[in-house]
Amino acid sequence: MAKQEALHRLEEMRQCVENVLSDLDYHIQRTKTIIQPETSEEYCAHGGTRCPYCGSDALEGGSVQIDAATAWQPITCVECGKKWNDIYTIAAYEPVT
Ligand SMILES: [Zn+2]
Repeated sequence: MAKQEALHRLEEMRQCVENVLSDLDYHIQRTKTIIQPETSEEYCAHGGTRCPYCGSDALEGGSVQIDAATAWQPITCVECGKKWNDIYTIAAYEPVT
């Protein structure tokens, strides 16, 4: 086998192993959240884009409600059916011209 071909095959194998490890990491993370839901800090650290119970990104948001400096939005996970509220606090104002 030519050296070039061998290197090419090694590179393909490396890519394959990388993909498997990436999938494995994803499933480990999901398993962790099923056993113990994420904390608010963990949930917010990834921008509230994944279900804190099962890790799915299939989330549906209801209408946002606002009371003074706090707003909240009911969220439902399409995958596991859990419900929670995303809580927002005021960050700034900007002038409108
Ligand atoms: Zn879920």
